[in-house]
Amino acid sequence: MVAPVAPQDAAWAIASALPDPEIPALTIAELGILRGVEMINGVMTVTITPTYSGCPATEMIKADIETALRDAGFSAIAVRLTHSPAWTTDTLSAATLEKLRAEGIAPPRRGQPPHCPQCGSAQVEQIAHFGSTPCKSLWRCMACREPFDHFKCH
Ligand SMILES: [Zn+2]
Repeated sequence: MVAPVAPQDAAWAIASALPDPEIPALTIAELGILRGVEMINGVMTVTITPTYSGCPATEMIKADIETALRDAGFSAIAVRLTHSPAWTTDTLSAATLEKLRAEGIAPPRRGQPPHCPQCGSAQVEQIAHFGSTPCKSLWRCMACREPFDHFKCH
């Protein structure tokens, strides 16, 4: 006998597997954007925290969650945003940081410049405040001369 899956557990499994629009190698759960899934007055309510206020990916994430849950048969869906507690790169797990590095994105290092994700060199310079997306800045390694994205600290 397999116990039936509670609706909110099924919804969590679906939402937590969704890739982040800006870093598709990571899920919104791994990035700490997905905060909670609960049934409130018959409405499957998903709570997310934007990586930073005004992040353009937030609307995309919201739409992705609504679409995925609707496809799975949920009809009453709400996605709400919470800014408390604020999202921070400090909560990213070691496994998540390693995945970022594997993607060629330098993981955040609070208060310190990033290291090159290719060769590990600390000899780096910032080229642009915004990289391929507003969540990242563009850097170049002086050792291997490769440009790379740095996931900004928040
Ligand atoms: Zn390098």
